[in-house]
Amino acid sequence: MKYIIGIDIGTTATKAIAYDLNGKQILETSKAYPLIQNVSGQAEEDPKIIFDAVQETIFQISKKLGPEALAISWSSQMHSLIGLDDEGNLLTNSITWADNRADSEVELAKESGQAKAIYQKTGMPMHPMAPVYKLKWLKNTNLDLYKKVDKWIGIKDYIIYRLTGKIMKDIPMAAGSGLLDLQTLNWDDQLLDWLELSKHNLPTLAKATEIVGTINEDYLQKLSLSENTKIVLGSSDGYLSTIGVGVLNNQEFALNVGTSGAIRTLESRPMIDEKARFFCYPAEKDYYLIGGPVNNGGIIFDWAKKTLFSADETAEDFLDIAQTVPAGSGGLIFHPYLGGERSPIWDANAKGSFVGLTRNHTKPHLARSVIEGIIFNLYEAMSAIRTCVAKPKAMRITGGFVKSDFVRQILANVFNLPIIAMKNDQSGSLAAMFLARLALGLDNELSDIKKFINEDKVYFPNLKEVEIYQKIIPIYHEIGLELSKSYFELANFQNNYPNLFSE
Ligand code: ADP
Repeated sequence: MKYIIGIDIGTTATKAIAYDLNGKQILETSKAYPLIQNVSGQAEEDPKIIFDAVQETIFQISKKLGPEALAISWSSQMHSLIGLDDEGNLLTNSITWADNRADSEVELAKESGQAKAIYQKTGMPMHPMAPVYKLKWLKNTNLDLYKKVDKWIGIKDYIIYRLTGKIMKDIPMAAGSGLLDLQTLNWDDQLLDWLELSKHNLPTLAKATEIVGTINEDYLQKLSLSENTKIVLGSSDGYLSTIGVGVLNNQEFALNVGTSGAIRTLESRPMIDEKARFFCYPAEKDYYLIGGPVNNGGIIFDWAKKTLFSADETAEDFLDIAQTVPAGSGGLIFHPYLGGERSPIWDANAKGSFVGLTRNHTKPHLARSVIEGIIFNLYEAMSAIRTCVAKPKAMRITGGFVKSDFVRQILANVFNLPIIAMKNDQSGSLAAMFLARLALGLDNELSDIKKFINEDKVYFPNLKEVEIYQKIIPIYHEIGLELSKSYFELANFQNNYPNLFSE
Protein backbone atom coordinates (compact mmCIF):
# COMPACT_ATOMS: atom_id res chain seq x y z
CA MET A 1 0.00 0.00 0.00
CA LYS A 2 1.01 3.64 -0.48
CA TYR A 3 1.59 5.66 2.66
CA ILE A 4 3.53 8.60 4.17
CA ILE A 5 5.67 8.51 7.33
CA GLY A 6 5.76 11.45 9.75
CA ILE A 7 8.63 11.15 12.24
CA ASP A 8 8.95 13.10 15.46
CA ILE A 9 12.58 13.21 16.67
CA GLY A 10 11.96 14.00 20.35
CA THR A 11 14.40 14.51 23.22
CA THR A 12 13.62 11.19 24.89
CA ALA A 13 12.41 9.10 21.94
CA THR A 14 11.70 9.00 18.22
CA LYS A 15 8.10 8.28 17.19
CA ALA A 16 7.27 7.33 13.62
CA ILE A 17 3.69 7.29 12.39
CA ALA A 18 2.48 5.93 9.06
CA TYR A 19 -0.53 7.67 7.49
CA ASP A 20 -2.59 6.47 4.54
CA LEU A 21 -3.19 8.84 1.64
CA ASN A 22 -6.39 10.11 3.32
CA GLY A 23 -4.25 11.29 6.25
CA LYS A 24 -5.51 8.56 8.55
CA GLN A 25 -3.02 7.18 11.08
CA ILE A 26 -2.40 3.49 10.40
CA LEU A 27 0.68 2.48 12.39
CA GLU A 28 2.84 3.96 15.15
CA THR A 29 6.28 2.88 16.37
CA SER A 30 8.73 4.43 18.78
CA LYS A 31 12.19 3.95 20.20
CA ALA A 32 13.66 5.68 23.27
CA TYR A 33 17.27 6.80 23.84
CA PRO A 34 19.26 8.11 26.79
CA LEU A 35 20.44 11.62 27.67
CA ILE A 36 24.16 11.93 28.43
CA GLN A 37 24.72 13.92 31.64
CA ASN A 38 28.23 13.31 32.96
CA VAL A 39 29.01 16.82 34.15
CA SER A 40 26.88 19.57 35.62
CA GLY A 41 24.76 21.33 33.00
CA GLN A 42 25.51 18.79 30.27
CA ALA A 43 22.57 17.33 28.28
CA GLU A 44 23.84 15.58 25.17
CA GLU A 45 22.67 12.72 22.97
CA ASP A 46 24.54 10.37 20.68
CA PRO A 47 23.49 11.17 17.08
CA LYS A 48 24.38 7.62 15.97
CA ILE A 49 22.00 6.15 18.56
CA ILE A 50 19.24 8.50 17.42
CA PHE A 51 19.89 7.56 13.78
CA ASP A 52 19.65 3.87 14.75
CA ALA A 53 16.35 4.60 16.52
CA VAL A 54 15.03 6.39 13.45
CA GLN A 55 16.03 3.48 11.21
CA GLU A 56 14.41 0.98 13.54
CA THR A 57 11.10 2.86 13.64
CA ILE A 58 11.07 3.17 9.83
CA PHE A 59 11.90 -0.51 9.45
CA GLN A 60 9.09 -1.55 11.81
CA ILE A 61 6.69 0.31 9.53
CA SER A 62 8.03 -0.83 6.15
CA LYS A 63 8.14 -4.44 7.37
CA LYS A 64 4.37 -4.30 7.98
CA LEU A 65 3.22 -1.92 5.21
CA GLY A 66 5.67 -2.69 2.40
CA PRO A 67 8.18 -0.52 0.51
CA GLU A 68 5.79 2.01 -1.03
CA ALA A 69 6.28 4.91 1.37
CA LEU A 70 5.77 7.95 -0.85
CA ALA A 71 7.68 10.18 1.54
CA ILE A 72 9.25 10.53 4.97
CA SER A 73 8.97 13.90 6.65
CA TRP A 74 10.16 15.19 10.03
CA SER A 75 9.20 17.10 13.15
CA SER A 76 12.22 17.56 15.38
CA GLN A 77 13.43 18.85 18.73
CA MET A 78 14.91 22.34 18.38
CA HIS A 79 18.24 23.99 19.29
CA SER A 80 20.48 20.90 19.00
CA LEU A 81 24.08 21.40 17.84
CA ILE A 82 26.40 18.83 16.21
CA GLY A 83 29.86 19.37 14.68
CA LEU A 84 31.00 17.44 11.56
CA ASP A 85 34.48 17.39 10.03
CA ASP A 86 35.04 18.03 6.31
CA GLU A 87 34.39 14.36 5.53
CA GLY A 88 31.08 14.36 7.35
CA ASN A 89 32.35 12.50 10.44
CA LEU A 90 30.93 13.35 13.84
CA LEU A 91 33.20 15.47 16.04
CA THR A 92 30.65 16.08 18.81
CA ASN A 93 27.53 14.58 20.30
CA SER A 94 24.24 16.38 19.81
CA ILE A 95 24.22 19.16 22.41
CA THR A 96 20.49 19.43 23.17
CA TRP A 97 18.23 22.34 24.14
CA ALA A 98 18.46 21.15 27.77
CA ASP A 99 22.23 21.71 27.98
CA ASN A 100 23.01 24.77 30.15
CA ARG A 101 26.78 24.97 29.87
CA ALA A 102 26.70 28.09 27.70
CA ASP A 103 25.05 29.98 30.56
CA SER A 104 28.17 32.04 31.31
CA GLU A 105 28.29 33.15 27.64
CA VAL A 106 24.67 34.33 27.91
CA GLU A 107 25.51 36.33 31.05
CA LEU A 108 28.50 37.96 29.32
CA ALA A 109 26.41 38.73 26.25
CA LYS A 110 23.70 40.23 28.47
CA GLU A 111 26.27 42.53 30.10
CA SER A 112 27.73 43.66 26.77
CA GLY A 113 24.31 44.23 25.18
CA GLN A 114 25.02 41.53 22.56
CA ALA A 115 22.26 39.23 23.91
CA LYS A 116 19.64 41.94 23.44
CA ALA A 117 20.95 42.64 19.94
CA ILE A 118 20.74 38.92 19.12
CA TYR A 119 17.16 38.80 20.39
CA GLN A 120 16.12 41.85 18.40
CA LYS A 121 17.79 40.63 15.25
CA THR A 122 16.84 36.93 15.39
CA GLY A 123 13.90 36.58 17.83
CA MET A 124 15.96 34.10 19.89
CA PRO A 125 15.59 34.58 23.67
CA MET A 126 18.71 35.12 25.81
CA HIS A 127 19.18 31.51 26.85
CA PRO A 128 21.96 28.89 26.72
CA MET A 129 19.71 26.53 24.72
CA ALA A 130 20.47 28.67 21.63
CA PRO A 131 23.22 27.30 19.35
CA VAL A 132 24.58 30.86 18.93
CA TYR A 133 25.67 30.79 22.61
CA LYS A 134 26.74 27.14 22.52
CA LEU A 135 29.06 27.97 19.62
CA LYS A 136 30.57 30.88 21.53
CA TRP A 137 31.06 28.61 24.53
CA LEU A 138 32.74 25.88 22.45
CA LYS A 139 34.95 28.47 20.78
CA ASN A 140 36.08 29.78 24.18
CA THR A 141 36.48 26.43 25.90
CA ASN A 142 37.61 24.07 23.12
CA LEU A 143 39.15 26.07 20.28
CA ASP A 144 40.96 23.07 18.78
CA LEU A 145 37.71 21.20 18.31
CA TYR A 146 35.93 24.36 17.15
CA LYS A 147 38.50 24.88 14.39
CA LYS A 148 38.25 21.28 13.21
CA VAL A 149 34.49 21.49 12.66
CA ASP A 150 33.54 22.11 9.04
CA LYS A 151 29.73 22.04 9.41
CA TRP A 152 27.58 22.90 12.43
CA ILE A 153 24.23 21.15 12.08
CA GLY A 154 21.27 19.93 14.18
CA ILE A 155 19.95 16.43 14.83
CA LYS A 156 17.33 16.48 12.04
CA ASP A 157 19.99 17.74 9.59
CA TYR A 158 22.22 14.85 10.67
CA ILE A 159 19.54 12.17 10.11
CA ILE A 160 18.67 13.61 6.69
CA TYR A 161 22.38 13.86 5.83
CA ARG A 162 22.90 10.18 6.65
CA LEU A 163 19.90 9.18 4.52
CA THR A 164 20.46 11.47 1.51
CA GLY A 165 24.02 12.86 1.68
CA LYS A 166 22.67 16.45 1.70
CA ILE A 167 23.03 19.01 4.48
CA MET A 168 19.98 21.29 4.62
CA LYS A 169 17.99 23.14 7.26
CA ASP A 170 14.46 24.54 7.13
CA ILE A 171 13.79 28.16 8.06
CA PRO A 172 11.79 27.61 11.33
CA MET A 173 14.50 25.28 12.65
CA ALA A 174 17.26 27.68 11.57
CA ALA A 175 15.45 30.46 13.46
CA GLY A 176 15.95 28.45 16.67
CA SER A 177 19.73 28.75 16.29
CA GLY A 178 19.80 32.48 17.03
CA LEU A 179 21.78 33.02 13.82
CA LEU A 180 18.97 33.72 11.35
CA ASP A 181 18.09 37.31 10.52
CA LEU A 182 14.35 37.76 11.10
CA GLN A 183 14.03 40.27 8.27
CA THR A 184 16.09 38.66 5.49
CA LEU A 185 15.52 34.99 6.51
CA ASN A 186 19.21 34.40 5.86
CA TRP A 187 22.17 33.55 8.10
CA ASP A 188 23.29 36.79 9.74
CA ASP A 189 26.75 37.93 8.58
CA GLN A 190 27.58 39.96 11.70
CA LEU A 191 26.79 37.06 14.02
CA LEU A 192 28.83 34.72 11.84
CA ASP A 193 31.74 37.20 12.15
CA TRP A 194 31.26 37.25 15.94
CA LEU A 195 31.73 33.47 15.92
CA GLU A 196 34.46 33.55 13.24
CA LEU A 197 32.35 31.33 11.00
CA SER A 198 31.12 31.64 7.44
CA LYS A 199 27.95 30.47 5.68
CA HIS A 200 29.93 27.46 4.46
CA ASN A 201 29.98 26.21 8.07
CA LEU A 202 26.16 26.09 8.26
CA PRO A 203 23.56 24.09 6.32
CA THR A 204 21.93 25.36 3.14
CA LEU A 205 18.58 26.97 3.98
CA ALA A 206 15.35 25.75 2.38
CA LYS A 207 11.59 25.60 2.89
CA ALA A 208 10.15 22.95 5.18
CA THR A 209 8.35 21.43 2.19
CA GLU A 210 11.60 20.99 0.21
CA ILE A 211 12.15 17.51 -1.20
CA VAL A 212 15.78 16.94 -0.18
CA GLY A 213 16.17 13.80 -2.26
CA THR A 214 15.77 10.04 -2.10
CA ILE A 215 17.40 7.49 0.17
CA ASN A 216 21.06 6.47 -0.37
CA GLU A 217 21.56 2.97 -1.69
CA ASP A 218 23.31 2.07 1.59
CA TYR A 219 20.05 2.37 3.46
CA LEU A 220 17.43 1.48 0.85
CA GLN A 221 17.67 -2.24 1.36
CA LYS A 222 18.25 -1.98 5.08
CA LEU A 223 15.06 0.03 5.52
CA SER A 224 13.09 -2.03 2.98
CA LEU A 225 11.97 1.12 1.21
CA SER A 226 11.61 2.08 -2.44
CA GLU A 227 14.06 4.18 -4.42
CA ASN A 228 11.11 6.50 -5.06
CA THR A 229 10.57 7.31 -1.38
CA LYS A 230 11.14 11.05 -1.03
CA ILE A 231 12.86 12.61 1.97
CA VAL A 232 11.08 15.88 2.80
CA LEU A 233 12.98 18.45 4.87
CA GLY A 234 10.31 18.86 7.59
CA SER A 235 10.57 21.34 10.43
CA SER A 236 10.77 22.12 14.14
CA ASP A 237 8.42 20.47 16.64
CA GLY A 238 7.48 23.95 17.88
CA TYR A 239 6.14 25.06 14.51
CA LEU A 240 4.62 21.72 13.54
CA SER A 241 2.86 21.04 16.83
CA THR A 242 1.25 24.49 16.46
CA ILE A 243 -0.11 24.04 12.94
CA GLY A 244 -0.73 20.36 13.78
CA VAL A 245 -3.51 21.33 16.21
CA GLY A 246 -4.96 23.77 13.68
CA VAL A 247 -3.56 27.07 15.01
CA LEU A 248 -2.87 28.97 11.79
CA ASN A 249 -3.19 32.59 12.93
CA ASN A 250 -3.27 34.72 16.10
CA GLN A 251 -6.99 34.06 16.76
CA GLU A 252 -6.05 30.96 18.73
CA PHE A 253 -3.17 29.77 20.91
CA ALA A 254 -1.72 26.27 21.10
CA LEU A 255 -0.74 24.97 24.54
CA ASN A 256 1.16 21.74 25.00
CA VAL A 257 1.97 20.53 28.51
CA GLY A 258 3.80 17.24 28.78
CA THR A 259 6.90 16.99 30.94
CA SER A 260 7.64 20.61 30.07
CA GLY A 261 5.31 22.93 28.18
CA ALA A 262 5.00 25.61 25.55
CA ILE A 263 2.43 28.17 24.49
CA ARG A 264 2.49 29.41 20.93
CA THR A 265 0.61 31.28 18.25
CA LEU A 266 1.20 32.37 14.65
CA GLU A 267 1.50 36.02 13.68
CA SER A 268 1.59 37.53 10.21
CA ARG A 269 4.57 39.78 11.05
CA PRO A 270 7.66 39.63 13.30
CA MET A 271 7.08 40.67 16.94
CA ILE A 272 9.82 41.57 19.37
CA ASP A 273 9.18 42.07 23.09
CA GLU A 274 10.74 45.01 24.98
CA LYS A 275 11.58 42.59 27.80
CA ALA A 276 12.58 39.67 25.53
CA ARG A 277 10.03 37.36 27.20
CA PHE A 278 8.93 35.42 24.11
CA PHE A 279 10.56 34.01 21.00
CA CYS A 280 9.72 34.99 17.44
CA TYR A 281 10.77 32.40 14.87
CA PRO A 282 9.95 32.96 11.20
CA ALA A 283 8.15 29.94 9.76
CA GLU A 284 7.13 30.79 6.22
CA LYS A 285 6.60 34.08 4.47
CA ASP A 286 3.93 35.92 6.53
CA TYR A 287 4.01 33.30 9.29
CA TYR A 288 5.95 33.93 12.50
CA LEU A 289 5.81 31.56 15.42
CA ILE A 290 5.52 33.53 18.66
CA GLY A 291 5.69 31.76 21.99
CA GLY A 292 7.27 30.75 25.23
CA PRO A 293 8.79 27.43 26.32
CA VAL A 294 8.08 26.53 29.96
CA ASN A 295 10.27 24.09 31.95
CA ASN A 296 7.81 23.31 34.71
CA GLY A 297 4.89 21.25 33.39
CA GLY A 298 4.03 17.62 34.21
CA ILE A 299 7.49 17.20 35.74
CA ILE A 300 6.22 19.23 38.71
CA PHE A 301 3.06 17.11 38.90
CA ASP A 302 5.41 14.07 39.09
CA TRP A 303 7.46 15.70 41.85
CA ALA A 304 4.36 16.55 43.91
CA LYS A 305 2.92 13.06 43.45
CA LYS A 306 6.16 11.51 44.65
CA THR A 307 6.56 13.98 47.53
CA LEU A 308 3.01 14.42 48.85
CA PHE A 309 1.52 11.01 48.07
CA SER A 310 2.41 7.44 48.96
CA ALA A 311 3.88 5.07 46.38
CA ASP A 312 0.57 3.23 45.81
CA GLU A 313 -1.38 6.42 45.07
CA THR A 314 -1.90 7.20 41.38
CA ALA A 315 -2.13 10.37 39.29
CA GLU A 316 -5.93 9.94 39.43
CA ASP A 317 -5.80 9.83 43.27
CA PHE A 318 -3.82 13.09 43.17
CA LEU A 319 -6.47 14.72 40.94
CA ASP A 320 -9.38 13.32 43.02
CA ILE A 321 -7.92 14.65 46.26
CA ALA A 322 -7.15 18.06 44.75
CA GLN A 323 -10.80 18.35 43.64
CA THR A 324 -12.07 18.12 47.20
CA VAL A 325 -11.10 21.76 47.88
CA PRO A 326 -12.37 24.84 46.03
CA ALA A 327 -10.65 27.01 43.40
CA GLY A 328 -7.83 29.13 44.84
CA SER A 329 -6.66 26.42 47.32
CA GLY A 330 -7.65 28.59 50.30
CA GLY A 331 -5.17 31.28 49.22
CA LEU A 332 -2.23 28.89 49.16
CA ILE A 333 0.05 29.94 46.30
CA PHE A 334 2.60 27.66 44.65
CA HIS A 335 5.38 28.85 42.34
CA PRO A 336 6.45 25.86 40.23
CA TYR A 337 10.06 26.91 39.52
CA LEU A 338 11.66 23.70 40.79
CA GLY A 339 13.76 23.45 37.63
CA GLY A 340 14.52 27.16 37.20
CA GLU A 341 12.36 28.62 34.46
CA ARG A 342 12.49 29.77 30.87
CA SER A 343 9.35 31.65 29.81
CA PRO A 344 7.96 33.85 31.32
CA ILE A 345 10.68 34.77 33.86
CA TRP A 346 13.83 33.41 32.10
CA ASP A 347 15.70 32.78 35.35
CA ALA A 348 17.73 29.56 35.65
CA ASN A 349 18.16 30.21 39.41
CA ALA A 350 14.42 30.45 40.14
CA LYS A 351 13.17 28.19 42.97
CA GLY A 352 9.76 26.78 43.85
CA SER A 353 7.68 27.90 46.83
CA PHE A 354 4.45 27.50 48.77
CA VAL A 355 3.33 30.89 50.11
CA GLY A 356 0.29 31.65 52.26
CA LEU A 357 0.22 28.50 54.41
CA THR A 358 -2.09 28.52 57.46
CA ARG A 359 -3.02 25.77 59.92
CA ASN A 360 -6.27 25.35 57.97
CA HIS A 361 -4.43 24.07 54.91
CA THR A 362 -4.45 20.33 54.34
CA LYS A 363 -2.91 17.92 51.86
CA PRO A 364 -5.71 18.52 49.30
CA HIS A 365 -4.92 22.26 49.37
CA LEU A 366 -1.25 21.54 48.71
CA ALA A 367 -2.20 19.17 45.87
CA ARG A 368 -4.58 21.65 44.24
CA SER A 369 -2.21 24.60 44.65
CA VAL A 370 0.54 22.66 42.81
CA ILE A 371 -1.79 22.15 39.83
CA GLU A 372 -2.97 25.76 39.98
CA GLY A 373 0.64 27.05 40.26
CA ILE A 374 1.70 25.14 37.13
CA ILE A 375 -1.27 26.69 35.31
CA PHE A 376 -0.71 30.23 36.69
CA ASN A 377 2.82 30.07 35.29
CA LEU A 378 1.49 29.04 31.86
CA TYR A 379 -0.99 31.90 32.10
CA GLU A 380 1.84 34.35 32.83
CA ALA A 381 3.73 33.02 29.79
CA MET A 382 0.64 33.80 27.72
CA SER A 383 0.27 37.25 29.32
CA ALA A 384 3.80 38.14 28.17
CA ILE A 385 2.82 37.26 24.59
CA ARG A 386 -0.48 39.08 24.98
CA THR A 387 1.33 42.39 25.49
CA CYS A 388 1.99 42.28 21.72
CA VAL A 389 -0.70 39.95 20.38
CA ALA A 390 -4.50 40.42 20.51
CA LYS A 391 -6.62 38.34 22.91
CA PRO A 392 -7.15 34.91 21.37
CA LYS A 393 -10.66 33.48 20.93
CA ALA A 394 -9.72 30.00 22.17
CA MET A 395 -6.81 27.79 23.13
CA ARG A 396 -6.10 24.32 21.75
CA ILE A 397 -4.42 21.93 24.18
CA THR A 398 -2.36 18.72 24.04
CA GLY A 399 -0.04 16.78 26.37
CA GLY A 400 -0.04 14.38 29.31
CA PHE A 401 -0.69 17.06 31.96
CA VAL A 402 -3.96 18.21 30.37
CA LYS A 403 -5.66 14.83 30.02
CA SER A 404 -8.20 15.20 32.87
CA ASP A 405 -11.48 17.16 32.82
CA PHE A 406 -10.37 18.73 36.12
CA VAL A 407 -7.13 20.26 34.76
CA ARG A 408 -8.85 21.32 31.51
CA GLN A 409 -11.58 23.14 33.44
CA ILE A 410 -8.98 24.97 35.58
CA LEU A 411 -7.25 26.01 32.34
CA ALA A 412 -10.56 27.42 31.02
CA ASN A 413 -11.14 29.27 34.30
CA VAL A 414 -7.60 30.66 34.66
CA PHE A 415 -7.22 31.69 31.00
CA ASN A 416 -10.89 32.75 30.82
CA LEU A 417 -11.07 31.21 27.37
CA PRO A 418 -12.78 28.25 25.71
CA ILE A 419 -10.32 25.36 25.84
CA ILE A 420 -10.39 22.91 22.93
CA ALA A 421 -8.95 19.50 23.77
CA MET A 422 -7.52 17.66 20.78
CA LYS A 423 -8.20 13.99 19.99
CA ASN A 424 -4.68 13.36 18.75
CA ASP A 425 -1.54 14.25 20.73
CA GLN A 426 0.84 13.54 17.85
CA SER A 427 0.38 16.94 16.24
CA GLY A 428 4.08 17.17 15.25
CA SER A 429 4.09 13.93 13.21
CA LEU A 430 0.72 14.79 11.71
CA ALA A 431 1.98 18.18 10.52
CA ALA A 432 5.21 16.55 9.25
CA MET A 433 3.06 14.19 7.19
CA PHE A 434 1.11 17.23 5.97
CA LEU A 435 4.33 18.96 4.81
CA ALA A 436 5.04 15.84 2.75
CA ARG A 437 1.55 16.09 1.22
CA LEU A 438 2.27 19.73 0.27
CA ALA A 439 5.65 18.69 -1.15
CA LEU A 440 4.05 15.91 -3.22
CA GLY A 441 1.23 18.16 -4.44
CA LEU A 442 -1.48 16.15 -2.64
CA ASP A 443 -2.54 19.39 -0.87
CA ASN A 444 -1.90 23.00 -1.79
CA GLU A 445 -2.61 25.35 1.12
CA LEU A 446 -1.55 25.41 4.76
CA SER A 447 -5.26 25.62 5.68
CA ASP A 448 -5.80 22.17 4.12
CA ILE A 449 -4.28 20.71 7.29
CA LYS A 450 -7.57 21.37 9.09
CA LYS A 451 -9.23 18.39 7.41
CA PHE A 452 -6.84 16.02 9.23
CA ILE A 453 -7.35 17.53 12.70
CA ASN A 454 -9.94 16.17 15.12
CA GLU A 455 -11.19 18.12 18.09
CA ASP A 456 -12.32 16.44 21.28
CA LYS A 457 -14.34 18.28 23.98
CA VAL A 458 -14.56 22.05 24.52
CA TYR A 459 -14.41 23.47 28.07
CA PHE A 460 -15.96 26.89 28.78
CA PRO A 461 -14.97 29.21 31.65
CA ASN A 462 -17.03 29.07 34.85
CA LEU A 463 -17.49 32.74 35.72
CA LYS A 464 -17.49 32.26 39.50
CA GLU A 465 -14.13 30.53 39.39
CA VAL A 466 -12.78 32.98 36.78
CA GLU A 467 -13.42 35.73 39.36
CA ILE A 468 -11.50 33.87 42.07
CA TYR A 469 -8.53 33.30 39.75
CA GLN A 470 -8.53 36.91 38.59
CA LYS A 471 -8.19 37.95 42.24
CA ILE A 472 -5.42 35.52 43.14
CA ILE A 473 -3.23 35.69 39.98
CA PRO A 474 -2.06 39.29 40.65
CA ILE A 475 -1.04 38.16 44.17
CA TYR A 476 0.81 35.17 42.65
CA HIS A 477 2.57 37.62 40.32
CA GLU A 478 3.55 40.09 43.08
CA ILE A 479 4.88 37.34 45.35
CA GLY A 480 6.87 35.94 42.43
CA LEU A 481 8.52 39.33 41.92
CA GLU A 482 9.40 39.60 45.63
CA LEU A 483 10.82 36.07 45.78
CA SER A 484 12.83 36.55 42.61
CA LYS A 485 15.11 38.93 44.51
CA SER A 486 16.35 35.97 46.58
CA TYR A 487 16.72 33.29 43.87
CA PHE A 488 20.36 34.09 43.19
CA GLU A 489 21.39 33.86 46.88
CA LEU A 490 19.34 30.68 47.33
CA ALA A 491 20.95 29.10 44.27
CA ASN A 492 24.40 30.04 45.58
CA PHE A 493 23.60 28.50 48.95
CA GLN A 494 22.32 25.28 47.37
CA ASN A 495 25.36 25.10 45.08
CA ASN A 496 27.80 25.75 47.93
CA TYR A 497 26.26 23.18 50.30
CA PRO A 498 25.05 20.36 48.03
CA ASN A 499 25.46 17.79 50.83
CA LEU A 500 22.67 19.42 52.84
CA PHE A 501 20.19 17.70 50.49
CA SER A 502 21.12 14.25 51.68
CA GLU A 503 22.44 14.53 55.25
P1 ADP B 1 6.32 14.20 27.01
O1 ADP B 1 5.86 13.96 25.62
O2 ADP B 1 6.80 15.58 27.30
O3 ADP B 1 7.24 13.17 27.57
P2 ADP B 1 3.57 13.61 27.85
O4 ADP B 1 2.75 14.50 26.99
O5 ADP B 1 3.50 12.16 27.65
O6 ADP B 1 5.07 14.11 27.94
O7 ADP B 1 3.18 13.93 29.39
C1 ADP B 1 3.91 13.40 30.45
C2 ADP B 1 3.65 14.22 31.71
O8 ADP B 1 2.26 14.21 32.03
C3 ADP B 1 4.37 13.64 32.93
O9 ADP B 1 5.18 14.64 33.51
C4 ADP B 1 3.24 13.24 33.89
O10 ADP B 1 3.51 13.59 35.21
C5 ADP B 1 2.07 14.06 33.42
N1 ADP B 1 0.82 13.33 33.67
C6 ADP B 1 0.55 12.05 33.37
N2 ADP B 1 -0.72 11.74 33.73
C7 ADP B 1 -1.25 12.87 34.26
C8 ADP B 1 -2.52 13.22 34.79
N3 ADP B 1 -3.51 12.33 34.86
N4 ADP B 1 -2.69 14.48 35.21
C9 ADP B 1 -1.70 15.40 35.15
N5 ADP B 1 -0.47 15.13 34.66
C10 ADP B 1 -0.25 13.88 34.22
